[in-house]
Amino acid sequence: MIERFDFILPTKIRYGAGAINLLGQELRNSQAKKIMIITDRGIVKAGLLSKLEDILNYENLDYIIFDEIEANPKDHNVEKCAKVARENDVDTFLAFGGGSPMDAAKGAAVIARQGGRIKDYQGKDKIGKNCMPLITIPTTAGTGSEVTFSSVITDSERNFKFTVKSPYIAARTAILDPELTISVPPLITASTGIDALTHAIEGYTANCTEPIAEAIGLYAVEYIASSISRAVGNGNDLEARDRMMMGSLMGGLSFSHSDVASVHCMAEALGSFYDAPHGLCNSILLPYVMEYNLPECEYKYARIARAMGIDENDDRRAAEKGIKHIKKLSEEIGLPGLSSLEIDSDDFEKLAEMSVENGSNASNPKKMNKETYIELFIKAYEDRR
Ligand code: NAD
Repeated sequence: MIERFDFILPTKIRYGAGAINLLGQELRNSQAKKIMIITDRGIVKAGLLSKLEDILNYENLDYIIFDEIEANPKDHNVEKCAKVARENDVDTFLAFGGGSPMDAAKGAAVIARQGGRIKDYQGKDKIGKNCMPLITIPTTAGTGSEVTFSSVITDSERNFKFTVKSPYIAARTAILDPELTISVPPLITASTGIDALTHAIEGYTANCTEPIAEAIGLYAVEYIASSISRAVGNGNDLEARDRMMMGSLMGGLSFSHSDVASVHCMAEALGSFYDAPHGLCNSILLPYVMEYNLPECEYKYARIARAMGIDENDDRRAAEKGIKHIKKLSEEIGLPGLSSLEIDSDDFEKLAEMSVENGSNASNPKKMNKETYIELFIKAYEDRR
């Protein structure tokens, strides 16, 4: 029997090349009066903000810009953002950028209305309904944060990433326009793309998954695997960008209704400890966690391999080939191994403890503990030095 589950999708999704032009209509419909664009300096530097400003000016809408969000957004970024919003009587948030601005905006949407510090809301279902209305516009194809129920924030005192998770934190509307990703540089295209692949794989295989999340996750693998090399090789390939953005959206939908698992537990530990790019951390760890999980996931990993185009009838062999394929793919698209982060192997014990503490540790299909995490960190480190 299928276990009881809820499938909630609070976010209206507007998808397609040129969809950014629907923003004016969305803001008019929501009767927004004072908007805050939440973004980062990289987006400003890439010249992307002018598109948004043109639309807001055309609609004669009052807005301010908050562009102080850092990568792996810090608790103080979120708290300052909420403070500025309150001081300026903002009534609508517009998150524009990759996962960092979107996650920060989701966190600020909570505390701007409910008060306190963002870490007060750490964990599952700790927030109330009353959040600042939020529109998300992703500019990377990776996190799926535009539709997920999570905001991942770094506790800057502990260098520890924590998650605030609730359907109430989700955006009211997500506008996905693949043309906005044309300017993403190759290495960020590669790392964010593998992040999306990891969401799809973990969403499909987490031990709390359900059939809808499984279906979306598996289909996302097909989209991402068939287009990631093209998008990295030629950023102007709009068809590849389109497929990556759809794959990223589906990966986000999948894990949000299931969970991520040990790849993310380790990647979030690495990412917060060394302030390293999230997608890169996932790409480094994904094949090693898959090798470890293989005995519990043979059938699903075989289906993932076939979704990536591997022609093999035997499940065990297909699964093994799939894992090798993922390792090779990351190398081919230019993603380095663990030693590239200039980490100290003495830190593995601390990183393993942080991985165990992660809220998604229990969702891994095969049980993990501190010792198994240390083993996987060592394996990833030794294998690609
Ligand atoms: P990011 O948002 O940190 O952006 C990376 C860099 O790319 C930045 O310098 C940014 O300015 C630049 N950039 C973004 N779009 C660009 C564009 N179109 N052109 C040129 N440059 C562009 O990276 P990310 O991988 O999208 O997000 C990572 C964060 O998201 C991490 O903190 C991670 O923990 C979090 N995350 C959240 C969820 C969720 O469900 N909430 C899921 C996965 C990851």
